[in-house]
Amino acid sequence: MRLVDTHCHLYWPDFASDLEAVLGRAEQAGVALLVQSATNPDTTQQAIEMARQYPDRLWAMAAIHPSEVKTATEADLERIATLARDPSVVAIGESGLDYYWDRSFEAKQQAFFREHIRLAIALDKPLIIHNREAHTDLLRILRQEARSGLRGILHCFSGDEAFAREAVRMGFLLGIGGVITYRKSTLPEVVRSVGLAHLVLETDAPFLAPVPHRGRRNEPAYLTYVRDRLAEILGCAPEEVAQRTTEAACRLFGLALPEVA
Ligand SMILES: [Zn+2]
Ligand SMILES: [Zn+2]
Repeated sequence: MRLVDTHCHLYWPDFASDLEAVLGRAEQAGVALLVQSATNPDTTQQAIEMARQYPDRLWAMAAIHPSEVKTATEADLERIATLARDPSVVAIGESGLDYYWDRSFEAKQQAFFREHIRLAIALDKPLIIHNREAHTDLLRILRQEARSGLRGILHCFSGDEAFAREAVRMGFLLGIGGVITYRKSTLPEVVRSVGLAHLVLETDAPFLAPVPHRGRRNEPAYLTYVRDRLAEILGCAPEEVAQRTTEAACRLFGLALPEVA
């Protein structure tokens, strides 16, 4: 019953002192593959280096996070395009729109998002999307830029049922993480409506820890709480959630589970 953490940030300073222990606990919990989302050229480089250090277990993404677009340059985008060709990079991400923190550079966020979509299509790699309070613009840009082969994950999915259905129709999976364990979450209705076939699991570690660790550092081992809550909501066995989400993640990234020793 192995799991894939489709989205984490283990290069974050939070993990500097105990990464080995964190990875050990992840393995114990059955988290067989971890894909690290990048936020700028430097963290992309770090994710690639860590993927080389833990081959077949850690994989990388390449992108500039929408909140980091403010200070990013054309040269940064070119660096991302180069790094994205590394064989350890299995997706372009995370890119998208974030209107929550700062709306002063919306146009630049949109332009960078378009560049990331085009890169994902050109390299035939999945696109991992970050979206916060930007549903309308996000869908509009995706529709305008969509080409055959465009696929990916709406990570930390936060939309309603209609938005979820539209995302699925466009070839995207929904990334489900710790938020689903929060009492006020509206995600249960959404996941029941779209069904297990279109879901993958993620932690977004070190952020968004699930209950009972909410408010503290998140880590990949906690993916089991997300799996169990999802099983409860969908009325199926945790094993089924694990199997189906792991299959979907492996198919999307073109990855195979490592051999069990
Ligand atoms: Zn994000
Ligand atoms: Zn993230």
